Amino acid sequence: MEKNKTQLDAIIIGSGIGGLVTATQLASKGAKVLVLEKYIIPGGSGGSFKRKGYTFDVGASMIFGFGENGYTNLLTRALKDVNERCETIPDPVQLEYHLPNKINLSVDKNYSNFISKLIDRFPHEKEGITKFYGACRKVFNCLDSMPLLSIEDPTYLFKVFLKAPLSCLGLARWLPINVGDVAKKFIKDPELLKFIDIECFCWSVMPALKTPMINAGMVFTDRHVGGINYPKGGVGTIAEKLVKGLEKLGSKIRYKANVQEIMIKNNHAVGVRLINGEELFAKTIISNSTRWDTFGLNNVKKGLVKQEFVGKNEFVWSKNYKPSPSFVSIHIGVDKNIIKSKFQLPSYYC
Ligand SMILES: Cc1cc2nc3c(=O)[nH]c(=O)nc-3n(C[C@H](O)[C@H](O)[C@H](O)COP(=O)(O)OP(=O)(O)OC[C@H]3O[C@@H](n4cnc5c(N)ncnc54)[C@H](O)[C@@H]3O)c2cc1C
Repeated sequence: MEKNKTQLDAIIIGSGIGGLVTATQLASKGAKVLVLEKYIIPGGSGGSFKRKGYTFDVGASMIFGFGENGYTNLLTRALKDVNERCETIPDPVQLEYHLPNKINLSVDKNYSNFISKLIDRFPHEKEGITKFYGACRKVFNCLDSMPLLSIEDPTYLFKVFLKAPLSCLGLARWLPINVGDVAKKFIKDPELLKFIDIECFCWSVMPALKTPMINAGMVFTDRHVGGINYPKGGVGTIAEKLVKGLEKLGSKIRYKANVQEIMIKNNHAVGVRLINGEELFAKTIISNSTRWDTFGLNNVKKGLVKQEFVGKNEFVWSKNYKPSPSFVSIHIGVDKNIIKSKFQLPSYYC
């Protein structure tokens, strides 16, 4: 068993984008941080891996947050805070739909192009389309005008109320509302409602009736404002640059460091124990592992925090959240010579 001699300000369990942004934000404010990652590369679901000369994104590939203005350019800002930036390739088209009944439509960065194409296909729903996507823009405008960390936590939103009361009031009314309810208010054509379902499913993995309007407002608008910008070299570049920025500030990341337990003393998290028995201590312990894995909400024996220290409210919370259905992603490498120069390839086909 080993003990770290120098006192760390924070240990962060996991080097997903959440863990790395937390780490770099702390380090940029002078904290000494250690990130512990059980895998061999950073980024988690936002990482990239290489096979036979191809670079594949582990999960995320449709990247928001690389805009330049407002508050929704979260990645640009996170990288800038550690003096890093990613070279990006703007995606003129976010998605290309090829759906039954001749719905062939691309979601262009240019908002008017996209809306006109949708109206061409559903002319009788012109007003509904304009009002629905207009409502999304209203949500976005509120989000983009205030510094937000979480758009799903009403308590946090309340705290920013004092900073931006008008935007907050605008946003508050959308908090409990799902996309499906707003869509049904403005749109009657069942086929167009199905289209809104697939619009949601592509990123929330849920139909419109189960997708929060607050998230849709962001996604359905930011793709036309900040746009979808793909980081050159793969999505994993974002994590790699954050790691670089972190290390430049004197903080560290360790790979193959699988945390088994968060140690608690006097009701405070004081350190972590790795599966090899090594113990590390810090003033603050932050978990970027899922809430379920951190608190053992699916399996109390496997939680990082021992069950006796987990509040009952965690189990109540987990009962209210149903896991979304699982899915498999297949990565296919295509020789770039096969892709003709004039062939525009969007990130996603549906
Ligand atoms: C297939 C797929 C496609 C997606 N597509 C998109 C998209 O196109 N656009 C988009 O914006 N989002 C997309 N997402 C969502 C996005 O990737 C995730 O929301 C985001 O990457 C999650 O980041 P995170 O930091 O919260 O967690 P994670 O990425 O899950 O990171 C958690 C990290 O913690 C590590 N860890 C966990 N437990 C331990 C432990 N005990 N000890 C040490 N390390 C530990 C893990 O190895 C992992 O690296 C997609 C997700 C998936 C899975």
